[in-house]
Amino acid sequence: MIYSEDYRADVKHVNIPIFIPHLGCPNNCVFCNQHNISGVTHFDPNAVESQIAAALSSTDSIDKKNTEIEIAFFGGSFTGINRDNMFYLLNTAQKYIDSGDADSIRLSTRPDYIDDDILHILSCFAVKTIELGIQSLSDDVLSACKRGHTAACAEKACLDILEAGFTLVGQMMVGLPRSESAEEIYTARRLCSLGVNAARIYPAVVLYDTELYHMTKRGLYKPLSIDQAVQRSCDILEVFIGENIPVIRIGLCASDNLDRDSVYAGGYHPAMGELTISALYLKYIYQAFSSLNLNKEDLSGGDYIIYCPRGAVSKVTGQNKRNIKHIKSEFNINNIKIIETDTIEGYNIKIASAI
Ligand code: SF4
Repeated sequence: MIYSEDYRADVKHVNIPIFIPHLGCPNNCVFCNQHNISGVTHFDPNAVESQIAAALSSTDSIDKKNTEIEIAFFGGSFTGINRDNMFYLLNTAQKYIDSGDADSIRLSTRPDYIDDDILHILSCFAVKTIELGIQSLSDDVLSACKRGHTAACAEKACLDILEAGFTLVGQMMVGLPRSESAEEIYTARRLCSLGVNAARIYPAVVLYDTELYHMTKRGLYKPLSIDQAVQRSCDILEVFIGENIPVIRIGLCASDNLDRDSVYAGGYHPAMGELTISALYLKYIYQAFSSLNLNKEDLSGGDYIIYCPRGAVSKVTGQNKRNIKHIKSEFNINNIKIIETDTIEGYNIKIASAI
């Protein structure tokens, strides 16, 4: 299975994900059931080669000149697995880099599995991107989640990874035990100041067979509603956008092979990213109309145009035209037309009277 992330306009990016569930991970973070998230219950390192070969064969139609193909080890903590397996996986992936079939290696791991020795090993292979499961930079939240490391450890890992010349993706969560909006905004801002190159935002999801599930059942944890997950993710997205840091994923999704039957409660929605971006557009559209500083009577019956970046019409409109309905009713507007244009980029919008 392949999925792509178009976070650079000029180069298309394709990941070949290889999931390594819980391999080498002695931890049990309260929210984690890696078997459910990755959909993989057994991992056979020897099968990796055929998985990569099969995935690469489906890239034949891709314009490889303008596409960066990364073999991505996701799921567990790659740098924590036993050294023989780690070298086996790196060597296997490297063969495809050396043959020119893939461009680089990507992996995910935890902050306390990063040290000089590991970074040196990774630098001997074509590892380009390290995704770090940071989740929170609040010690209180990390401790409530039984993460087993401190915020200082995560910050040092970020700096060491960047210093060693790797691309760093910071993964953070919203809605964790003892985490409020303030802790989440602090974490996002701190990740920006540490220099992450991209981010992923995951609203906490309560999976069956996790400690978070039992905490929820005992009333010790209140899962996020979908609306709360969207709003909290939206606040974080805005922080990253403000610092020009691409957010390459919001929410667990089908690409993570999430078994939906394993979700008990919390911030899981198959279109979490779309909902979050839509909420951000609503905020910006609301601000734009508010800044007109007009009375509702002045706007009454008026027709307006919202100009947005190309490809953003559905997100600006919102699911079931939610954004448009909200703005029309809030500002007493007769009609709103949305026009996509090349002259507007990012998450910007412009409004104009249609008259
Ligand atoms: S470190 Fe990662 S794989 Fe291990 S329990 Fe925590 S979230 Fe799961």
